[in-house]
Amino acid sequence: MFKKVFLLFACVLVVHVKIAAQDTAYAREVISALCSPEMAGRGYVNDGDAAAADYIKKQFEKLGLEAFDFNYYQDFSFPVNTFPGRVNLLVDGVKMKPGVDFIINPKSSTYKGKFDVLTLDSLAWDSLMRNPVVQDGMMGFSKLPVSNSREFNQKAEELSQKIFPAMLWRKERLTWSVATATDQSLEIDIVDSCLKTPPKLVEIDFETKFKKVHRTQNVVSYVRGTAQPDSFLVFTAHYDHLGIMGKEALFPGANDNASGVSMLLQLAKYFEANKAGYSIAFIAFAGEEAGLKGSEFYVRHPIFPLMQIKCLVNLDLLGTGEEGITVVNATEFPKLFAKMEKINIEKEYVTQVKKRGKAANSDHHHFTEKGVPSFFIYTLGGIKAYHDVFDKPETLPLTEYADVFRLIRDFALRVMGI
Ligand SMILES: [Zn+2]
Repeated sequence: MFKKVFLLFACVLVVHVKIAAQDTAYAREVISALCSPEMAGRGYVNDGDAAAADYIKKQFEKLGLEAFDFNYYQDFSFPVNTFPGRVNLLVDGVKMKPGVDFIINPKSSTYKGKFDVLTLDSLAWDSLMRNPVVQDGMMGFSKLPVSNSREFNQKAEELSQKIFPAMLWRKERLTWSVATATDQSLEIDIVDSCLKTPPKLVEIDFETKFKKVHRTQNVVSYVRGTAQPDSFLVFTAHYDHLGIMGKEALFPGANDNASGVSMLLQLAKYFEANKAGYSIAFIAFAGEEAGLKGSEFYVRHPIFPLMQIKCLVNLDLLGTGEEGITVVNATEFPKLFAKMEKINIEKEYVTQVKKRGKAANSDHHHFTEKGVPSFFIYTLGGIKAYHDVFDKPETLPLTEYADVFRLIRDFALRVMGI
């Protein structure tokens, strides 16, 4: 009896491990491809996002998914500030490493020069904000009157509009973003552990290029429904990331959002092999990091009526899961959320399915505003790399990846009444 039970248990375990390994093997393949140097951080330099779009399109073709009109692309454009060339910073003659030791405000214009640094602390902050000055040298701030990185970013934004050039000492990790406009401001965030003593002289050589029109594309495919082809389930994931900050700093965006794209493709693979009653569309958006540009364009130019979407699940940041998942819009669509919660209670896929209200923090947002029942799912716990050069495939754990896949798959089936 013991032996029998043990054998059965061993079998279940082997099958489970095998499925998990298969699921993550494809995910790993997709994530590594999307984070490779050829994709240049899936941004706006060296055709990075175009290379990523081409890869996704080829995956759709390979999996046998249909395009809506012979072409999987939905073309659009937006303006963006880029950093294709030199990004050199010397502090008292020592070269700083871009992305690791410092980042530049994404709005920056081209800058070259030597600056004496006047170091100030938080006491000088309020008076400077009241009477901003633009000086020949650089203002360095050893401390900002803030308690978290959100406040830091707000203060940095305030500062860059009023006082420049400026350099901010930062205790926490650096986070970068994308700007769709440029101005004369120059603000550098520097990790304070690189500064042994308050710096005296800073040498800068930054080359930026503002692209008024950056052409890009959403990549869209679908599997036709067998019973109600005019009813749609939609899965979305943005494939763009932050690109590069000069030749040395590449932002790979493994968690954000190669992980979500891999899940999108994994679901495409599943639903192509297991056709469902509803049609199921898969949209990989561009321009999310520049302000939800791809999804904004899509809802203005939907390929099929938005009214036909029964439910949309946006996948962004799915590489961890130690602490479960969060569902944005759970409180907006309680009946749909109850379905997901119930599946997780029955199957014990993840440790928690956390409710969250509305948030304009990813591509589901524009759909929600148009009345489409939409969720945004992201995983919780694990590594904290985010919008930095450390968000790499090698350190992305994919802890609950296979279980999150099963939960989303089961949820989709239940929405279709299966
Ligand atoms: Zn993202």
